[in-house]
Order: sequence, then structure tokens, then C-alpha cells
Amino acid sequence: MKEIFETDRLLMNGLPYVFLFEVLFRCIVMYIVALLVLKMAGRRGVQQLSVFELVIILTLGSAAGDPLFYENVGLLPTICVFIFIMILYRLTTFLITKSKRIEKWLEGEAIYLIEEGEFAIDKFKKESLAQNEFFAELRLRNVTHIGQVKLALLETSGQVSVFFYRDEEVQPGLPILPHQFNNLVLQFKVGELYACKFCANICNSVSETKQLECDRCGKDEWVMATDELRIA
Ligand SMILES: [Zn+2]
Repeated sequence: MKEIFETDRLLMNGLPYVFLFEVLFRCIVMYIVALLVLKMAGRRGVQQLSVFELVIILTLGSAAGDPLFYENVGLLPTICVFIFIMILYRLTTFLITKSKRIEKWLEGEAIYLIEEGEFAIDKFKKESLAQNEFFAELRLRNVTHIGQVKLALLETSGQVSVFFYRDEEVQPGLPILPHQFNNLVLQFKVGELYACKFCANICNSVSETKQLECDRCGKDEWVMATDELRIA
């Protein structure tokens, strides 16, 4: 028959104190695993929270709850988990202040998604940002076509910042309203402006043709360009 408030079981659940070294080892492994998985999830996966905040929440979250009601989980190993994780966290933030490379790898940099009314295609592909998700972000800021946007950046927080052209600077651009964006041009007309669906490049030198290749990205899907102003 077990007794309640038995010191050995309450603190260590009968395990020797050297078990705390194993707890340290487990903490290091799980900390690294959580960090790597969150890095792989990409920054859209951890929007609003920094990767570290999430690592702390994940690793400490279950550690905090278990000893509350599992009689076979000792208090001391749990307290050590907290101490070890906080030391690892402090160590990581210390390394970030010391090394630019580590900072860049862990926290990333802001990435240009739109430059001068066109997609920055080389950078766009690398980020796990879905196009329709990005378009939705722009529409929420009253953007109807890419020609209204001077710059858009994916911040390290996962949020998108957008800088607009002044009204007099707005140029013809790729529409992002679904009914226009999905309306592919099948027959080109001289004098009309067309926007590349893939890179938002604008083409105006068309002859009456059925096929037209984008001189910027090489793709051949076009929609009618639009030059309306942004009304916010
Ligand atoms: Zn293109």
C-alpha cells in the first residue's frame, strides 16, 4: 500500500537523483526536436508567435501538467525540466546576439514578395506562402491589382507588410480579384495590356496571336491588366 506525501515518491517517484541527468538529456533532445520541427513548418506556421515562444509553450506545456495528477511523475524532474528549458532558451537568445549567422538562420529576414508592381519570383518560390493566401492578405488591404503595390514584404513574424503607390503612380497590373484573375485571355488584341499570371509582368506589344510567352518568366498564361486606383 502506497502512502500519500511520501517524500521519495513525491519528489522523484522512487528514482535515484542521478535520473535528473537523464532529464537534462531528454530536455536537450526535445528542445532541439521542437525547434527543428517549427523551423520546418515555415514562418506562416508560427504566425504571431516567435519560434522560441512556441518551443517554450510546447515543451513546458505538457511538463507543467503531468505532475499535477500523474502519481508516477515526480515533482523534482518536472522542476528541473523548467530550469533546463529556460537555460537552453537563454543560451539560444545569447547565441543570437553573438552570431549574425545563427540569428539569420533562426529568425530569418524579411523577404520581398512584390517589387515595383511585379512579383519577386525567385524569392517567392522559396517561401511556403500560398499564392491565394497572399492575395487574400492584399485584398484585405483594398488592393485590387498588383500595379497598386510598390513593395510587399514577408516579415519574419509571418505577417505581410505592403507599401502602396500614390494614385498618380499606379501602373497597369495583374488583377487579384478571383473573377478577373481566373479569366484567362485566349485571343489577344492589339492595343490592350496583358498581365502575366505567374510573375505579374505587363505585356503591351501583342500582335493578333494565340500564343504569347512572358519575356520575364517564360510562362504563357495571361489575363487582362487593369489600372484602376486603390480606394481605401
Ligand atoms: Zn511572367
